[in-house]
Amino acid sequence: MPESTNESVMAIETTLNDVDRALERLRQGTYRECQVCSTPISEVDLEANPLLAHCSAHPELA
Ligand SMILES: [Zn+2]
Repeated sequence: MPESTNESVMAIETTLNDVDRALERLRQGTYRECQVCSTPISEVDLEANPLLAHCSAHPELA
């Protein structure tokens, strides 16, 4: 398998994992909470990235 295909598969799997986690947070009612400090994530940030799991206080996790 060419290297570029491997990288594409990994990128897709990472996105799938993020979607899974976002759906799980929706089920648990914690979708809009930062997973680190439980601060509500801003509407604007969630609109820009619906899979966002952290508030803007943790740029290293983005
Ligand atoms: Zn936070």
